[in-house]
Amino acid sequence: MPTEPLRSLPSGRPADEVLAELGALRAADAPTRGGRTFAYVYDAGLEGLDELAAAAYTAFATVNGLDPTVFPSVARLENDVVGAVAALLGAPGAQGTFTSGGTESILLAVKTARDHARAERGITAPQLVLPSTAHAAFHKAAHYLGVETVVVPVDPGTFRADATAIAAAITDRTALVVASAPSYAHGVIDPVARIAAAAAARGVLCHVDACIGGWILPHLRRAGRKVEPFDLSVPGVTSLSVDLHKYGYADKGASVVLYRDAALRLHQYFAHAGWPGYPVVNPTVQGTKPGGLLAQAWAVLRHVGDDGYTALAGRVAEASDRLLAGLRALPGVRVLGDPAAGLVAFTVLGNAPGGANGGGAPSAGGDQGAGGGQTAGSDSDRGAGSDRGAEGGADLSLLLHLADEMRERGWYLQPQLSFDGLPPNLHLTLTPATVDQVEALLDDLAAALDSARALPPVSVDPGLADLAAQLDPATLGPDDIAGVLAFAGLDGDGGLPARTAPVLVLLDALPQPLKERLLAEFIGTIFRI
Ligand SMILES: *Cc1c(COP(=O)(O)O)cnc(C)c1O
Repeated sequence: MPTEPLRSLPSGRPADEVLAELGALRAADAPTRGGRTFAYVYDAGLEGLDELAAAAYTAFATVNGLDPTVFPSVARLENDVVGAVAALLGAPGAQGTFTSGGTESILLAVKTARDHARAERGITAPQLVLPSTAHAAFHKAAHYLGVETVVVPVDPGTFRADATAIAAAITDRTALVVASAPSYAHGVIDPVARIAAAAAARGVLCHVDACIGGWILPHLRRAGRKVEPFDLSVPGVTSLSVDLHKYGYADKGASVVLYRDAALRLHQYFAHAGWPGYPVVNPTVQGTKPGGLLAQAWAVLRHVGDDGYTALAGRVAEASDRLLAGLRALPGVRVLGDPAAGLVAFTVLGNAPGGANGGGAPSAGGDQGAGGGQTAGSDSDRGAGSDRGAEGGADLSLLLHLADEMRERGWYLQPQLSFDGLPPNLHLTLTPATVDQVEALLDDLAAALDSARALPPVSVDPGLADLAAQLDPATLGPDDIAGVLAFAGLDGDGGLPARTAPVLVLLDALPQPLKERLLAEFIGTIFRI
């Protein structure tokens, strides 16, 4: 039994009791091992790997990565890890940094580009040109760093970035252009070479977000799959991010950002001598840094090894092949795009004549562009209106019922809402541990789909949707917010209700700024102190 939440810190307790409390708290969590949780966790399925990572962390738990001159082991470990990444994904002269995750790697890459643009090109109001499928971390970085986003719609058939439209969106103020290898949402690889060439032609930097794909794609290639070039060896690519806590199977808190050369990386560093304390040089966002995270990533890389990663990539490819074949055979299911690296997104269609995989038109979301940024080159008819559930279109209600039904059967599939004409879908990140689960997953999917179809559709009262659309998120008071959260069924004791379809259907229908405000308010109710 989990203990009551602490209101203040009570007197100390014995270590074994404290650990027992922590263990009990895990009971309600999604399983992180066993291949049934298809987002957030990466299970290599290798015996002893978790124990190795934990032991390596422990050995370095008290080390401070802030100062590699006092703790030279940190410099050695980081050079080893970044060196391994540069050997796989770099080009001669590439240099990089170990960071806490993809978000930090991206934040640093955008900061580097911003400062490079200011120093080298005199740009004081920098822009970031990115496909609409680029990870939200770029919007976060732009928001933190005062950079304007220019969002370019992707091809609605392939979900890949449109290189021509990206080229057209580059201006004299563009500091950085982004491509994904692959995108998180749909798992498809952008035309990196064409995007990088367009950036280079204008003297602009180009970042490849290989956070999720960087460590698996080269090994998929070695395992015999066709993978187009996407790394720093591609002309025009100037930086790249890769998360070792994804397909590197390290524990969370491990990523690398790589640059084409030392001069570019220097823009990432922060040095400060204008205070009476120790002279500061911080390569990353953090000051004091956990030595343990670097050590566990090093240990996992060293243990699995080059050959091991190729074998693991082969297992992911096998799981992916079998899952894709099974999904495509399910009536009414449509796999989105051509998934390249173990990520699969699929949607379910409404009562379309012609049934499965008819390639029905994607349903349109109500969103257009990103807050604070602008959208370039979008089709005038895209993002307008809402045809969810229309003939042949994605059926949001059915999709979300399916996710709930699967969760009741012990599987976590990640719902992704509609955006800018791209259909809502369920996302699955496959890992080697998935291989043994594919048949069970497909069986449960078929059964869950039947159950979901038998459920009454969830819809949003059009009057309410109209009303919500008129609310100004900037001026909503606490009572308005409480009212909307209560209406959505989110006024309970924190967390989502067991059936998430009603609240997600409502969220999907709201305009982006209101969505964002409600998401923040909702999380505020979870972290309520
Ligand atoms: C995971 C991911 C990120 C963000 O990384 P975090 O480690 O979650 O901070 C960025 N881009 C892509 C493509 C990702 O898959």
